[in-house]
Amino acid sequence: MKKIFTNLVAVDDIKISRRNIFVEDGFITKEFEKDEETEIIDCNGLILVPSFVDMHTHFRDPGFTYKEDLKTGSMTALKGGYTTVNLMPNTNPIVSSKEVYQDIIKRGKDLDLIDIKQVYSITKDFKTDDLSHLKDLPEGLLFLSNDGKGVDDDFSMYQAIKIAKENNLKFTLHEECKEISKHDYEIAEDLMTLRDCYFSYKMDVPIHFSHVSTKGAIEAIRYFKDLGANITCEVTPHHIYFSDRDDLKVNPPIRKEKDKKALLDMIKKGYVDCIATDHAPHTKEEKEDGKPGFIGLETAFSTSYMSLVKTGIISLNDLIRLMSTNPSKLLEIKKGKIKEGYEADFTLIDLDKIYEYKEENILSKSKNSLFLNQKLQGEIVRVYKKGILKYDLNGKTL
Ligand SMILES: [Zn+2]
Repeated sequence: MKKIFTNLVAVDDIKISRRNIFVEDGFITKEFEKDEETEIIDCNGLILVPSFVDMHTHFRDPGFTYKEDLKTGSMTALKGGYTTVNLMPNTNPIVSSKEVYQDIIKRGKDLDLIDIKQVYSITKDFKTDDLSHLKDLPEGLLFLSNDGKGVDDDFSMYQAIKIAKENNLKFTLHEECKEISKHDYEIAEDLMTLRDCYFSYKMDVPIHFSHVSTKGAIEAIRYFKDLGANITCEVTPHHIYFSDRDDLKVNPPIRKEKDKKALLDMIKKGYVDCIATDHAPHTKEEKEDGKPGFIGLETAFSTSYMSLVKTGIISLNDLIRLMSTNPSKLLEIKKGKIKEGYEADFTLIDLDKIYEYKEENILSKSKNSLFLNQKLQGEIVRVYKKGILKYDLNGKTL
């Protein structure tokens, strides 16, 4: 099927250009002559970017589907301009078996809304030192994580790295020493980040650091990146938007102004690879009970645009690199660029539009957003996956 996207401003990680984009069978292709079968898609002069890719998402499925499930999560992702998410394994049951993994992948595919990647647990059911589930791994697996918790046991981490190396797996790590975090959560993140930077450097294993939030952690990452370690990292929109807000319950917590400044500085200097949402749905009651986390897929672009691009810290191209190009590379998918051979996953944005983010417009089952009733800039208008319309602000989620 041939399509020509026209009347648009294309923005990827490198260029901004007014041009037509030619798509054949779901992929960007070189210019062709239109025939009667070619569909022309008018983009109304909007910004067109490669759709966003989230390295860190919780859809709560299976086990906690009263908060979110694969379908509502996928619709929420589309509303935020995402066509790929990387789901964390802290569901019920925890994703520590082929059966649970394959069930999620299959149901995600059947929905045909977005691409769903699933992370596998490092230790079996997040137990201290059980790695027995890593003997027989599901096909297509890329990442291991015990997200929500750190791997406290050094020897288990060491052994898991050895297994990961043999099987070409990577890690995406929640860094928090359990015992220390009860007393000092800053040291708890810094210390485990240092350990795993060292592991990555010494054992040459790819480690991606999830939701980095402290000055100490990001400086450790910079140090080991400069040494040549195979390290990448992500920062969440909320850790660069807020500081000194103990009332906002999230894990890792909203940090101090010095931490936020360090994160922004490292984003500017190019040491941060991705913006990842840590989309974490909870009910009202759970939030009142102090459950950590906030939904974030729907607001990630607007709030990151406001805190990074509007402030002049980075360019719009840089933001697309953080939200699309780099996470695509990490997930080894042919997305994240407006270039021949790449998948035609496009997000159309009305960049100047200021809109109020209201509870009744939220597509997630949970409404625990940090940005309720706030005025945000840069609205997602349409989302295409492989050239097919999947979300339309003014119409319907398909
Ligand atoms: Zn986490």
